[in-house]
Amino acid sequence: MDTQVLIIGAGPTGLTLAVDLGLRGVACTIIEQKEAPQFLPKMERCNARSMEIYRRMGIAEKVRAAGLPARCPMDVFIVLSLVEPPLLHLSYPSVEQARQEIAACNDGTLPREPYQLISQYTLEPLLKSIAERLPPVCVRYGCEFLDFEEAAGSVTANVRSSAGATSQIRARYLVGCDGGSSVVRKQLGIALRGEGNILQLRQALYRCDELFERIPIGKGRHYHVADDRATQLIVQDSTRHFTLHSVVEQDSDMHGQFAKTIAMPLDFEMLYVGEWKQNLLLADAYGRGRVFLAGDAVHLMIPTGGLGMNSGVGDAIDLSWKLAAVLHGWGGPKLLPSYEIERRPVGENNVAASRYASLGRRKWRAAWQPNIRDDTPEGAATRANLARIADVEQRKTNEMIGAELGYCYRGSPLIASKPGDGPQSDFRRYVPTTRPGARLPHVWLDDGSAMQDRIGYGHGFCLIRLGRTRADTSSLAPGPARGSRMCGSTTEARCRTASAMVTAIASFASAARALTRAPSRAPLRRSARRCRPSTSTTSARATFTAATSCCCAPICTSSGAATTPRPSRRCWRRWLPVTRTAGGRKARGRARARGAREHSCCRSRSAR
Ligand SMILES: Cc1cc2nc3c(=O)[nH]c(=O)nc-3n(C[C@H](O)[C@H](O)[C@H](O)COP(=O)(O)OP(=O)(O)OC[C@H]3O[C@@H](n4cnc5c(N)ncnc54)[C@H](O)[C@@H]3O)c2cc1C
Repeated sequence: MDTQVLIIGAGPTGLTLAVDLGLRGVACTIIEQKEAPQFLPKMERCNARSMEIYRRMGIAEKVRAAGLPARCPMDVFIVLSLVEPPLLHLSYPSVEQARQEIAACNDGTLPREPYQLISQYTLEPLLKSIAERLPPVCVRYGCEFLDFEEAAGSVTANVRSSAGATSQIRARYLVGCDGGSSVVRKQLGIALRGEGNILQLRQALYRCDELFERIPIGKGRHYHVADDRATQLIVQDSTRHFTLHSVVEQDSDMHGQFAKTIAMPLDFEMLYVGEWKQNLLLADAYGRGRVFLAGDAVHLMIPTGGLGMNSGVGDAIDLSWKLAAVLHGWGGPKLLPSYEIERRPVGENNVAASRYASLGRRKWRAAWQPNIRDDTPEGAATRANLARIADVEQRKTNEMIGAELGYCYRGSPLIASKPGDGPQSDFRRYVPTTRPGARLPHVWLDDGSAMQDRIGYGHGFCLIRLGRTRADTSSLAPGPARGSRMCGSTTEARCRTASAMVTAIASFASAARALTRAPSRAPLRRSARRCRPSTSTTSARATFTAATSCCCAPICTSSGAATTPRPSRRCWRRWLPVTRTAGGRKARGRARARGAREHSCCRSRSAR
């Protein structure tokens, strides 16, 4: 075996997957057909959820350091040009302001990390450099995937170097993160369905050093021009680079379109121009057998709402811990199939959110009239009407917190189901919930730390009980692999394996029973004892179900203390089963050694 996981495509999805697998001690090779990351415009907004994920991976500050400075506003404008009073100005907090809001809020409605503007051409080299420093990860650019053959226990990919030499890479699993034209998806015969080629636009990248400081109408990130060409100016992370999207006849028109939009006599250089198409497409399946698909390979969205890359980051993180669990030997047979069950509905939801936002955009653009610049009562009425509609419709693009944070993995074999419970999906509104399968909401604990920060890497499973009752769980902390702590109204137990968690649940329950004088819960004890150390997901599920149905209800009967968020229904009183991969130094060391053995596919260090 050359490597454990072969990743095709070093876009943000593939690179996030490679970094996360590397952090979990899984040997992986990522191949990319390009010679190096390219300086081409694409995505520029990492949403709050992706930033929470990058925080857990320990790289959020690196992403922020490379991105737009924290003090820069994230406002959105609708304009005729950059020098005329805006028709509409929507204010959004800078990262600095958003952090202050987050620090002052403890109702679970805000994310742990705010969004971050970072251009894709900055993010990709950053992720690449992080991946290259991880011993289990081998990064190979200038290596094109051709096709694969699957055999029992392995997948063999045929690849071609930029010099034309062909070779093979054998892996336990293959993941196609190869974008919208995915060769991997095509070989699997999986179709994309939905609306393709909705609108074709031109996009150009410019360098204009003085522009940002000189914009007289206010600093922001997006300036939508109220015209009949869908023109939009986007500030990139350096504030010296800008992209402009517009429906024009030829590439050279993009030069004049930029000059017309900025309407100031400034020097600028057009660095790139190209076409791109708007699509709203979702794949029928997210993989087959030992081959998985993630990112744009399975969902293509219009950038309205900025959900494209962010959905890919979510895919990568869900697939990563499952691959690691199986490769480390404790993931059961239902674990990898749960990837599609959990992530495809999120893809479907995000495609729908992107459609919803883009229809809103189209609606206000349809209010454009040729007289929009006229200094007449009719011209003024057109401007006022467009601004009025945009004040409702443009918000659909910029206020997507429900789609970003509110997804929930329903119907997954890993997650204890509670039919009919939990908030309904709403693109615009996020309602914090501890429903199993939902993202763990962000709340501050009494000691000022964030609950989300307690479930970092290397803890295996993390069990959290929220509520007023304190439980002495000191007996749960006999070593580095397992531990517990109490902090205010929250008690945590961390275990490396599912079976250790079963023991923790039993101890937690009896510790808390002693404190609350709750009646004995014999069923829990029985179920805990019956769960033998096992690698099956069924056993993990039994554990979680036991935790949810047996431990919690009799222990926490009142609503949470001051540090707990307002409940979405009743109170925050459920156990939160959170799975993490097996961590710990020994496991990492073993994995690294295995990684070194399995890296025969990337002998040349210089290729990294
Ligand atoms: C104008 C625009 C603005 C956008 N803005 C946002 C935004 O603000 N927020 C957001 O979340 N998303 C945004 N998106 C979407 C975002 O850019 C994509 O969703 C994201 O790039 C998907 O990442 P990926 O890694 O899945 O695929 P890609 O970025 O497409 O990467 C796939 C990689 O695979 C490589 N590859 C392909 N075939 C092979 C092969 N045979 N062998 C080896 N390598 C191969 C490619 O070269 C490429 O590097 C925007 C998109 C556009 C066009």
